Amino acid sequence: MFEFTREQEMMRAMVREFAETELAPRVREFDERGDIPRDIFRKTGKQGLIGMTTPKELGGSGIGHVAAAIAVEELSRIYPSLAFSLADTPGLMHIIEHFGTEEQKDKYLKPSIQGESILCIAATEPTGGSALTDLRTEAVPDADGYTINGRKVYISNGGIADYCLLLAKTGDRASIIIIDRDNPGFIVSRRQEQMGFKGLHISELAFSDCRVTRDSVLGREGGGFAVAMTAFVVNRPPIGAVGLGIARGAFDIALRYAKERVLYHKAICNLQAIQFMLVDMDTDIDAARWLIYYPGAALDRGVAPRDLCKSAARAKAVGAEVAARVTQKAMEILGGYGVSPEYHLARFLNDAMELFPAAGTAQIMKIIQAGEILKQ
Ligand SMILES: Cc1cc2nc3c(=O)[nH]c(=O)nc-3n(C[C@H](O)[C@H](O)[C@H](O)COP(=O)(O)OP(=O)(O)OC[C@H]3O[C@@H](n4cnc5c(N)ncnc54)[C@H](O)[C@@H]3O)c2cc1C
Repeated sequence: MFEFTREQEMMRAMVREFAETELAPRVREFDERGDIPRDIFRKTGKQGLIGMTTPKELGGSGIGHVAAAIAVEELSRIYPSLAFSLADTPGLMHIIEHFGTEEQKDKYLKPSIQGESILCIAATEPTGGSALTDLRTEAVPDADGYTINGRKVYISNGGIADYCLLLAKTGDRASIIIIDRDNPGFIVSRRQEQMGFKGLHISELAFSDCRVTRDSVLGREGGGFAVAMTAFVVNRPPIGAVGLGIARGAFDIALRYAKERVLYHKAICNLQAIQFMLVDMDTDIDAARWLIYYPGAALDRGVAPRDLCKSAARAKAVGAEVAARVTQKAMEILGGYGVSPEYHLARFLNDAMELFPAAGTAQIMKIIQAGEILKQ
């Protein structure tokens, strides 16, 4: 068990205010234009919402993984597209911090933390994201570097990222290679329209005789799966926190509505059927909160990501489930208004559904947990 510290609670209040003043009035605009303006990323950087898991000497605030998840949860309560687009930064920064050279840390960490540049990770291929080891994208080495050919799909921030961390086959193993957006062999083939996360650029990327130098590899050549797995374990709890934020946003809308909506001369929150739904939603959120924050608290205590595979997979799976379940109940409480865009719940439900496949499907999350349980 743990409690949030005073510092974390203050940070939550600060992010909530930022989300309510900077994001809430503009979410429809962002969804309609299908884009979050760069100045919003810069503002999140200025507010210190990126780089909370990176130590001070590398440009972050070092306040930790729980704090980073709190920030994601609060942003998601208002605008899940932005929360999701930032949710994988702790994992990406973690692998640059732990596997990167001094030059790579200098080049990629500070600008990302300030919201000046955006990173993406490209692992999934058109032939199947779950079978990650069947990579077709290949980086062929020569005297000065690598030539990369292949395709990646569903890449969050893929269309706007300044740097792409690419998982590619190198010989019979895999490596993570960092590619700059202005590399002529790096092509954003198309944006992939989704049912939710309308402000997020999810894109298909192509690599066509894309030349990179030897020092573009993150970590050692051939060590790419271990590096990618580390990023996934660190990313999954904040992605779960996106779901928790959606659930909290939906709950708050439903509670407010239930107190205001009058039927039979009294507010519908007096109806026991409505109260029971609110109780179920609140219980669901509380239960999910502990599972989602636990791996971040463990990382903050110094537990290694490799020892958190089960709890991180569980956090991500639970986040998707709580988001969908609570939002659906909130929609029922609002009756016909539940499906109106005015009340945001339809948008939340669409966003919640995106969380099921993102960062590994529900079934893959269960396979990871089962593997760890059977080791006991
Ligand atoms: C919003 C969003 C953001 C994303 N962002 C990124 C990103 O930034 N970078 C990136 O690389 N990818 C990203 N993805 C891709 C995501 O990681 C993949 O969609 C996911 O890994 C599943 O791969 P797939 O879609 O190819 O499904 P498939 O792997 O084809 O799976 C199809 C079905 O088979 C099931 N299945 C597969 N293997 C097994 C098994 N062994 N046992 C039982 N069932 C199985 C799956 O659970 C699923 O139901 C994103 C996806 C979404 C929706």
